[in-house]
Amino acid sequence: MTKLRICHLYGNLLNTYGDNGNLLLLQYTAKQKGLDVTTQMVSLDQSFDPQSYDLVFFGGGQDYEQKVIAQQIHHIHDDLQNYIENDGVVLAICGGYQLLGHYYVNAKGEKIPGLGILDHYTVRQKNSRFTGDIEIYSDFFQRKLHGFENHNGVTYLGPKVNAFGKVIKGFGNNNEDQTEGVQYKNVFCSYLHGPLLVKNPWLAEALVDLALKKQK
Ligand code: GLN
Repeated sequence: MTKLRICHLYGNLLNTYGDNGNLLLLQYTAKQKGLDVTTQMVSLDQSFDPQSYDLVFFGGGQDYEQKVIAQQIHHIHDDLQNYIENDGVVLAICGGYQLLGHYYVNAKGEKIPGLGILDHYTVRQKNSRFTGDIEIYSDFFQRKLHGFENHNGVTYLGPKVNAFGKVIKGFGNNNEDQTEGVQYKNVFCSYLHGPLLVKNPWLAEALVDLALKKQK
């Protein structure tokens, strides 16, 4: 039986707005495809072995949890970078998305260093959030996605990454350039909660298929 090994990165700390529903749908989709699914959480003080996973899910969270994680996330930097550069599949939402970039300025104005594996950075808005239903179009998948966004962070992309989607309705990364999220190799980052995969189940299937393709 073909295996699908899922890693839930910092899943006990980053799991807001029903983001764990993304994990449930990945597990369900893989089972429907007849795969033998295993899920392992990697959290504080644990190592990330890039050879041990086919799909990584990195959810969203509050500033407090993000700060706790940022204080010691750098010890997994090289292994996670290795996984990503070797076309490992990652889905990162909101807080997880922000932590993969260069830095994140939280609502209090504190600059939290990120992993810097992806070329984006996030600043804050004062006393305001981007909240509401959002619709985007993904060039990579050539499909529309629906979700709900709720973030203080305002994200700008560097030249080494693509946007995950173009905003049709809503705020997206920064409410200025119509970009939403990041796509780099097989890494997909987004501000869409919902949870994203439950609202767009075809994406769960596409991610599992990409993970299987990578195994071959
Ligand atoms: N704390 C971050 C922000 O407000 C992330 C929020 C989230 O993950 N939903 O931008």
